[in-house]
Amino acid sequence: MALLRIPVRIGMVGVLLALFAARPALADENIVPSFAPACHAATGVGADVRVMQTATKWTCDNNEWRSDVPAVWLRFEAGSWQGQKLPQYFFSRIARFKSITFHAIDADGQMRTRRMEQADATAFPSGPVFQMPLPEITADTTLVLARIEAPHSVPLLTEARITHEPGKAEWSQVDMMLLAFVAGMLVLPLLFDISFFVVLRERFVVLHAAMVTAMMTYVLTAGGLASAFLTMPVALMAVLAPLSWALGAGISALFLNAFLERGAQSRLMRRVTIATGWFTMIVPGFFALQLDATQPIDDVGYFLALLPCIFLTSAALFEAVWRGSRSARFIAVAWLPIIITSIERLRRGLGWHVGPSSLDQMMYVAIGIEVVVISLAIADRFLALRRERDAALTEAKTLEQISTRDSLTGLMNRRAIEARFDELLAQGFDTFALVDLDRFKAINDLHGHQVGDAALVACAGALRATGDRDTIAVRLGGEEFVVLLRGPRPLERAEAMRRAIPMRIANDVPGLDLPVTASMGVVMLGDANAHRMAFREFFARADALMYEAKASGRNRLAYERLTVFRSAPESRSASAGRAA
Ligand code: GH3
Ligand code: MG
Ligand code: MG
Repeated sequence: MALLRIPVRIGMVGVLLALFAARPALADENIVPSFAPACHAATGVGADVRVMQTATKWTCDNNEWRSDVPAVWLRFEAGSWQGQKLPQYFFSRIARFKSITFHAIDADGQMRTRRMEQADATAFPSGPVFQMPLPEITADTTLVLARIEAPHSVPLLTEARITHEPGKAEWSQVDMMLLAFVAGMLVLPLLFDISFFVVLRERFVVLHAAMVTAMMTYVLTAGGLASAFLTMPVALMAVLAPLSWALGAGISALFLNAFLERGAQSRLMRRVTIATGWFTMIVPGFFALQLDATQPIDDVGYFLALLPCIFLTSAALFEAVWRGSRSARFIAVAWLPIIITSIERLRRGLGWHVGPSSLDQMMYVAIGIEVVVISLAIADRFLALRRERDAALTEAKTLEQISTRDSLTGLMNRRAIEARFDELLAQGFDTFALVDLDRFKAINDLHGHQVGDAALVACAGALRATGDRDTIAVRLGGEEFVVLLRGPRPLERAEAMRRAIPMRIANDVPGLDLPVTASMGVVMLGDANAHRMAFREFFARADALMYEAKASGRNRLAYERLTVFRSAPESRSASAGRAA
């Protein structure tokens, strides 16, 4: 059953992702046309615009994109916007770069140039994009050349477009609502984590909260949603997005290690998982900063350094599922969409294939799925821990019972009665009846210990027989018992119990030739609230009375009623009565 459920879940996730892949085609009506470069060329810093106009080293298919060069030229041709509104803006995917210089070149050779720094770029809430105004483009303009200096990312080049109105050229409002929905989905697990942590205090709950926070930062910055409610410099967004992804991925590995049950990972895999987590936070995290000095390598470096995280955490998951971990199966379901979409994103980031930035939305959906499924996994673990705790409590109860019950008769034992004596006295159990079987040694000698034991069990049965809440029977040890009584006529009730013992034993233990009688010493405390007495004192007095009962012939009861003089309660003067 459990084996079947996982493919079903994966199937559902697959259907969701496929729906999203198909979705951009459906939401296209509101989108203003935008124009891609016809050709591109990588050059050194010094390449001249006059040379580039006529140069032949342009690549004019969607290939050989690279960002590890000093400058990349993009060539937009008027043919593409023939009959449409003239482009006024350049926009592309957010990433670090130094500057972009635009040249609008007319048919007569006239040229308008505009140079923009990264700081001049503005982000807008329509995807992970920034925009810049172009120099004036007229009906005579035949060519627009853009020179991007020190680009840090391939999608910055592949996703560059010019358009009449960029705000409507990239992601639709529906897309942004989806993004907002995913961001909203992430808030809930965060609240979950806080409440789980209050109860569980587990490290994995903290790691999960950190992971969700990183993912939320990623969705807000990489998806461009952040620019809907605050103006953030493009350069900062360009760093925050990959940085939060690297941190989120690294923390995920640490989370995996902390969340898996003990024994779900081999020692080697534990170390590998933890090392992967730290490596991913540090190395891709460093490349995410996109420093000037690392421009030629940081794009490739970032994506390549993320590879170990994808493969090693997958391997760790595989091992844990193999070892029968329940948590690992949850995480596998949660991570599968992310692993698939990050491989796609990675290939796009490395320029191995070119695709629209709307493909990112699959990743956002995958993030939403992962966070929600992992929250379910945490809830599942929470229930499991609670079950464990309940089982431990039951065991503790059993143990307590064992330690407070006499194993032969099931009556309360001496330890239990001594521990609860003050409490019982306060509840009104103010009559203490000590019971000792007469000439019991002879029973053992004549019939053996087993018969003796059966007689003790029968005696316990007789003492317990009243079954009311005003009588408590205890086995002190050997063939000595205590009965505590409260309520009216305690002496009569004690005597009735004493008389019931021989009958019960004769009934339950066949083959005894003589009746097994019992003697009793009863101490009654007349005014329990005015006078407190310890178990020891009751026992000593009852024992003395018992001695009297034995001495005067056995099979009888001796009692004493203690009355306290109200004027001097400490003096403990007592008057005693005796009965046979
Ligand atoms: P009496 O009290 O009337 O003076 O005589 P008695 O023979 O009962 O004397 P005593 O109380 O000294 O002896 C108690 C005997 O109870 C001793 C022992 O053989 C027996 N006994 C004590 N505990 C157990 C038990 O758990 N099982 C059995 N079968 N016998 C026990
Ligand atoms: Mg005895
Ligand atoms: Mg005895």
